[in-house]
Amino acid sequence: MLFFVEVIMPLSLAKTFTYSVSEAEYHFIKKGMRLAVPFGKNKIYTALVIDTHQNRPSLYEAKEIHQILDEKPIVNEKQIAHWQWIATYYMCAIGDVYRAAMPSAFLLESESLIMQKPDVFVDEATLTDEEYLVYQALQLQSSLKIQEISAILNKKTVFPVIQKMIDKNIIILEEEIQESYKPKLVRYIRLHSKYEGNEGLSQLLEFLKNAAKQKEIVLAYFQLSAVEKKPIAVKKLVETANTSTAIVKALIEKEVFEEYYIQVDRVQFKGKASEDAIVLSEAQQNAFDTIQTSFETKEVSLLHGVTSSGKTEIYIKLIEHYLETGKQVLYLLPEIALSTQLVSRLRTYFGDKVAVFNSKYNNNERVEVWNQVLHQAAKAQIVIGSRSSLFLPFQDLGLLVIDEEHEQTFKQMDPAPRYHARDAAIVLAHFYKAKVLLGSATPSIETYFNAQNEKYGLATITERFGKVMMPEIELVDIKDKYFRKQMSGHFSDVLIERITTAISLGEQVILFQNRRGYSPLLECMTCGHVPQCQQCDVSLTYHKHKNQLRCHYCGYSIAKPVSCHNCSSIDLTTKGFGTEQIQQELIHLFPSAKIGRMDQDTTRGKFGFEKIIDSFKNQEIDILVGTQMLAKGLDFENVSLVGIMNADNMLFHPDFRAFERSFQMMTQVAGRAGRAAKQGRVVIQTYNPNHNTIQQVTRNDYIGMYKEQLYDRKIYYYPPYFRIIKLTLKQRDYNKLNEGAKWLHSVLTQNLAIPILGPEEPAINRIRNEFIRTILIKIPQESSINGTKKTIQKILNSFDSVPQYKAIKVTVNVDFY
Ligand code: ADP
Ligand code: ZN
Ligand code: ZN
Repeated sequence: MLFFVEVIMPLSLAKTFTYSVSEAEYHFIKKGMRLAVPFGKNKIYTALVIDTHQNRPSLYEAKEIHQILDEKPIVNEKQIAHWQWIATYYMCAIGDVYRAAMPSAFLLESESLIMQKPDVFVDEATLTDEEYLVYQALQLQSSLKIQEISAILNKKTVFPVIQKMIDKNIIILEEEIQESYKPKLVRYIRLHSKYEGNEGLSQLLEFLKNAAKQKEIVLAYFQLSAVEKKPIAVKKLVETANTSTAIVKALIEKEVFEEYYIQVDRVQFKGKASEDAIVLSEAQQNAFDTIQTSFETKEVSLLHGVTSSGKTEIYIKLIEHYLETGKQVLYLLPEIALSTQLVSRLRTYFGDKVAVFNSKYNNNERVEVWNQVLHQAAKAQIVIGSRSSLFLPFQDLGLLVIDEEHEQTFKQMDPAPRYHARDAAIVLAHFYKAKVLLGSATPSIETYFNAQNEKYGLATITERFGKVMMPEIELVDIKDKYFRKQMSGHFSDVLIERITTAISLGEQVILFQNRRGYSPLLECMTCGHVPQCQQCDVSLTYHKHKNQLRCHYCGYSIAKPVSCHNCSSIDLTTKGFGTEQIQQELIHLFPSAKIGRMDQDTTRGKFGFEKIIDSFKNQEIDILVGTQMLAKGLDFENVSLVGIMNADNMLFHPDFRAFERSFQMMTQVAGRAGRAAKQGRVVIQTYNPNHNTIQQVTRNDYIGMYKEQLYDRKIYYYPPYFRIIKLTLKQRDYNKLNEGAKWLHSVLTQNLAIPILGPEEPAINRIRNEFIRTILIKIPQESSINGTKKTIQKILNSFDSVPQYKAIKVTVNVDFY
């Protein structure tokens, strides 16, 4: 009798592989367990069992497995079915999905490097003999290869020992040493409530008449608070009064001052859920009831509620309902780094039932959440995470909430699997018979289309919570302003005036500059030459503070030239503008304001993002300039003004979703204004104040935008009427690539009676010396998506086997975004 297992390898391979096992192993092994298996010449990988059987493979001799790594399955059959769906739908290898799905600590392979976890106390008494040997070796050598560990332990199969040590938190895989962010706490000071009111100062001066130094500080405090309409930091007071923190401390002890911190979004979680129940407003309650009713007949429901309408509270109520039935809940977010505020809101409510799963977390944390979810631990009954949390081993998933469902970051671009987390979540829910709630103030056209067609339920909230007014939107025609010479740099007189007012009231300002494809360039005024990257065919971007020209695609950089490379003229000028230039102009316009900038450059460093958010929250920044990062669900109470520097570069981005995205982005940034009691204000500067999309933003007319876009999508063959598959071909040899792309295009056209565009030379037609061609396949709603994909896959396979095209790399992006 022969016994076999069928496994997925963690490699970009579409096939599964067959290994042979003993009879005893055959009876022990279950689907969803991991095995260490030999592969290729002398490599070992962690493979996942998806079946056991007795059919000898016909094409190769099945190798024996090395070892069984799990005692019980760590992946369940629903997950495997879901992964297989992803592989088929998104046309990628099942191995790609497996690799993306598992924390890498679960995928030990012969190449893995192991090191001791820093700053952890290890009780040597708890180690087994083998663990002790590995631990000892790591005291002498900072990292060890699997082979070296094999040599130390004098055995071939060492994965289980290593896995145990990872579980015991003693060692980690090398790639992932990460620290966690500790927010800086700024200490503020205010007058003790005893001394509030008109009499306060005179009372105090009397009280302190014999303490001259202390009196000085109190006077300095009063002066400061008259000028600064914002919290006063201890540091600032000490500087202004030219004194020491010791004296301030004495005043705190005397109960003249009290100290406090502004950290509402990162409240230290005490491990106990809040007792106060949320009371929904009437509008919220109606939406909640509508969702509940729609779930009786539908799997998916859309909550379309304007910014600040209190969608989060509705999610919380719904989650509460599912928790009571013992079900697990997944809360998907576009970007977990931007969500500290949300996490603490959920923790306040649900206590330690909330687990956060972040692909940027280190492996041990990810393994921990994985295991909690696997064992249905109460600690992880609610998981909040970005798209990769879809792959967790849920046992009894009842509800999926997809917040900001319109966000394009839900779609993974590179590497494969290029899945859309919202769509994959809906399929996942189907496997679990779970419900899905999509939420957004600006739903994607596709989702709203499904709601209109009653495929999804729909609940709408048109008012902000607490009847706070929607921000007032003011359009500024900058063509006219330039003509009338009412512009200072990129700022109109209107915007300058609004900023001045806001700052004088101690309120904060956000300025939004979408830099996509609109960075500052260096142009020769004599011959018009713009320096290009030598390997990417894009213009180099000018970076003022480094005095450099840089390529945004490959990082190539040169010092800013003093004369034109083409004609040697020294008459060079910088064109276009980015966040950095806005910041420079602000410094001149508002010399006493504190100005911050948030974009890819300033947030690149460790915790760069969190630091900027913190200092904005702490009101150390008056005006924050940023890119679209600012549009994402941040909640700052003190922001009363939002300015959009230039709406046009979003509108005219070459992309069929440009109008939809512009609407979403502007509406979302506008939603950052005036979330507290006072009505906020938004200033949009544009050359096209009458553009339909701009008008729709101004009127908060989502439906108008939707209808117009839907009409265009139909006429121009785009989603939701057509599904789009984008093929990207890359090769260094220009002519061979051209030839191959033409061949592929013509074979596709011959075999599929649907629109196939291309091969196109994209706007950026070369990256890192590889030339690029794209082919766009548009599959109409009525044709079979599966049949079409099968045909495409067959054609791609034969393309791959043509010798002269072998060097061309093809990537497939289904539902291209
Ligand atoms: P959205 O997610 O729709 O933009 P939020 O959920 O952030 O809106 O709600 C906006 C503000 O209103 C938040 O400060 C929130 O705490 C408050 N809020 C919403 N609903 C309620 C409620 N039922 N009770 C108390 N406060 C609420
Ligand atoms: Zn020139
Ligand atoms: Zn480049």
